[in-house]
Amino acid sequence: MNHIILTHSDLLTTLADELPSNKQRQSLVQGLLNAYKLDELCEVLPIIPIQDASMGQYHDKDFINQLQQPRDDVDKQLDSYEKVRMAVSEEFEGCNDTEEETVGDDEKFGLSFDCYPFPFMRYYVNLIAASTIQLAKRVVNSCKEGGIPGQIIGINWYGGRHHCHRSRCSGFCYINDVVLGISTIRKMCSGGVFYLDLDLHNGDGVAEAFKFSKKVTTCSVHRHDVGFFPAGSGKLEDSVSGMYNVPTRRGLTNEVMQWILQNIVFQLIDKHQPQYLVVQLGCDGLSSDPNNEWNMTIEGYADVVHLLIEYVDIPVIVLGGGGYNHTEVAKCWTYVTGTLLGYKAADFDEIPDHRLLDNYEHDGYRFWTDSNLQPGKMKNENTLENLLSLQAHLLSL
Ligand SMILES: [Zn+2]
Repeated sequence: MNHIILTHSDLLTTLADELPSNKQRQSLVQGLLNAYKLDELCEVLPIIPIQDASMGQYHDKDFINQLQQPRDDVDKQLDSYEKVRMAVSEEFEGCNDTEEETVGDDEKFGLSFDCYPFPFMRYYVNLIAASTIQLAKRVVNSCKEGGIPGQIIGINWYGGRHHCHRSRCSGFCYINDVVLGISTIRKMCSGGVFYLDLDLHNGDGVAEAFKFSKKVTTCSVHRHDVGFFPAGSGKLEDSVSGMYNVPTRRGLTNEVMQWILQNIVFQLIDKHQPQYLVVQLGCDGLSSDPNNEWNMTIEGYADVVHLLIEYVDIPVIVLGGGGYNHTEVAKCWTYVTGTLLGYKAADFDEIPDHRLLDNYEHDGYRFWTDSNLQPGKMKNENTLENLLSLQAHLLSL
């Protein structure tokens, strides 16, 4: 039986619901986990505000300062402003808050375009960083303490903000919790960390952070094409030993993803012999995702996680990430959590009554529908020939 450590914070759920790219998504995720009572079977790790300099272990001070500026005008745009303000002041009581509003050059730090400031952003950033840092600490300490039977798996569906750079927001990512979490593990133990990024988009921010690290290996499996976000990154030829890009074409199926794991990723894991595995499980590769690029299913994502966990026999941390069909994301991450706890597909059939049940009306209040049980009709452009050439190159590095 796996020992699952699951992060949770009501306040972060509220704040993450305002993320411009994923409005209300976090509530759906937390709501569904709770509706199936999965949280009751996990060790729930509450997320508490960061009061130390741990964001500075990767990000530049000026950037952190810019993120932490009070922005009352933006905060007040929120309908539930007063309620959130009270919740925030209660939870952040005693934390140093910058009093004066001295907002500098947002654009310089990427706080524009797809990463514009949103209500209560500074608290969101703090708690997102906290979520993966605190989970990393808890997982490492659990391993050190010993006495826990089974494999230790940490899950943080708030995290996985893999595009953020050292001093610039990017791709809906305002802070790089992944880098902060991995750095936390590295400070606490001498072994290596293997980071596997399965989001549709290249995990550029994490790869860049650890490009020269001997102890952190990054491997990103992503959709790649000229101009595809993050443009200019993630090319096969840019791979080096310890930083691997697995660029794929449209229509990637569950079977192709499994092939990549079994014929490329496992070999790389064997080569680097990590002590911890961190997986970013953005699910914007679902066939139902509006990106419409990959053709994976919920079952496919769960199979991938199970294959990995069975293969590695080391502690694993699973993070969220992209995913823009929000009810399907909630189902996918709930299903992954549930199957790690021993649930079967049939256990999910009817969605239990809960506060957000109405969001599933279009599915007839069912977890499984004709469209999420099967992949879509998209053509798989990833030929065996293409996959074999990726394999030959990456395994030769
Ligand atoms: Zn993505």
